[in-house]
Amino acid sequence: MGFTLTDNQENADVILFNTCAIRENAENKAFGNIGWVKNLKKTNENLFIILCGCMTEQNTIIDKIKSKYGFIDLVFGTHSIHKFPKYFYETILNKNENQKKSGKNYIKETEDIITEDFPAVRNNNLKAFLPIMYGCNNFCSYCIVPYVRGRERSRNSAEIISEFKKLLENGYKDITLLGQNVNSYGKGLEENINFPKLLKKLDGFEGEYTIRFMTSHPKDATNELFDVISKSNHIAHHIHLPVQCGSNKILKEMNRKYTKESYLKIIDYAKSKIPDIVFTSDIIVGFPGETYEDFLETTDLLKKVKFASLFTFIYSPREGTPAAKLLDPISKHEKTAWLLELLKIQEEISENLHKEMIGESLKVLAESFLPETNELLCRTSGNILVEVKGKKDNIGKFLNVLITNSKKESLKGKII
Ligand code: SAH
Ligand code: SF4
Repeated sequence: MGFTLTDNQENADVILFNTCAIRENAENKAFGNIGWVKNLKKTNENLFIILCGCMTEQNTIIDKIKSKYGFIDLVFGTHSIHKFPKYFYETILNKNENQKKSGKNYIKETEDIITEDFPAVRNNNLKAFLPIMYGCNNFCSYCIVPYVRGRERSRNSAEIISEFKKLLENGYKDITLLGQNVNSYGKGLEENINFPKLLKKLDGFEGEYTIRFMTSHPKDATNELFDVISKSNHIAHHIHLPVQCGSNKILKEMNRKYTKESYLKIIDYAKSKIPDIVFTSDIIVGFPGETYEDFLETTDLLKKVKFASLFTFIYSPREGTPAAKLLDPISKHEKTAWLLELLKIQEEISENLHKEMIGESLKVLAESFLPETNELLCRTSGNILVEVKGKKDNIGKFLNVLITNSKKESLKGKII
């Protein structure tokens, strides 16, 4: 439509906020930023403020926008993203007709469709994200995603393979397949495919590249998945397998459909097939009804699995989810203390894991360069950061490095 990018909000004629609904603090942050840009409308009457993403799929948020943020010109949800240019064009025309007054446009669509040939602007030329499915059917009791993203639907494998191939042809070296639960990929498609079969097809191209994927739901992580990874040439030896909690009582309340024991069984099978596999996870601390004893089940699980790193969250009630109706007697203060305790334990685990890697030689992808220290920032197959002395023109190359030192969050190595 002729618009270009600017780094400076004050120069912008359009400011578009893409939002996340997963936790309350992400929503508060979005509202804070939107409130701030309101002032820019005073000096630029042609400024359009647009809000999209998951937040806008919630009726309570739309009500809040209408009552307090009426200066937003266009609001559209995740189901309408492919029609953004159309709605934006209508908003511009509408604003002109209304003598530069705000022409409010609230789009609400709920059809769960897949749009192919969607243009993508990627701002990294080595790493790319490739959606293979949309939505979620799991209804974990704390989670808003199934309500704002709609039902799970998979893209045809031919479309994914063709996009993947184009990314390789364009020089991408590290491609992450995306979905809320990639392990259930293929359900509902007419073709005979599942996630391990898709991985196998994507693994079959020439050249050096890495395939990653996110996120795997443990209830659907099959032995077939690990068998395929163990025999592959390009699939990362890393699995992000969100466990959320180690207490079976809480896992049941969360509607996660696995137990601590069945989760550990998956981990054991994965290790038996892929000895150098790296595990990472998501943890929620302070789910309604969680006791300190339940919490200790989680820290026990961390010690048993030895995750390399974690994304940790304090439970955030999301209106409309079953968990938001549960009694939640533990204070935020106490939950924060539990989280800090957990982080301390995890820090030690990560530090030890990294220490054990000293002396190993690994293949890493050089992703960027720090001129101040002449260091390349590289990633292992297990997605661990390695700092290596080297030249800038190594960016984009797979290098063999010897791990010489370790830190809490990363490794040091030298090219061999
Ligand atoms: N589909 C992925 C996760 C997507 S959301 C999966 O099931 O693994 C990413 C993470 O956000 C979740 O794994 C969970 O740890 C966290 N999360 C989701 N809802 C949350 C809530 N209400 N409060 C706190 N954390 C939440
Ligand atoms: Fe949310 Fe993930 Fe559960 Fe789906 S599988 S409901 S996205 S936590």
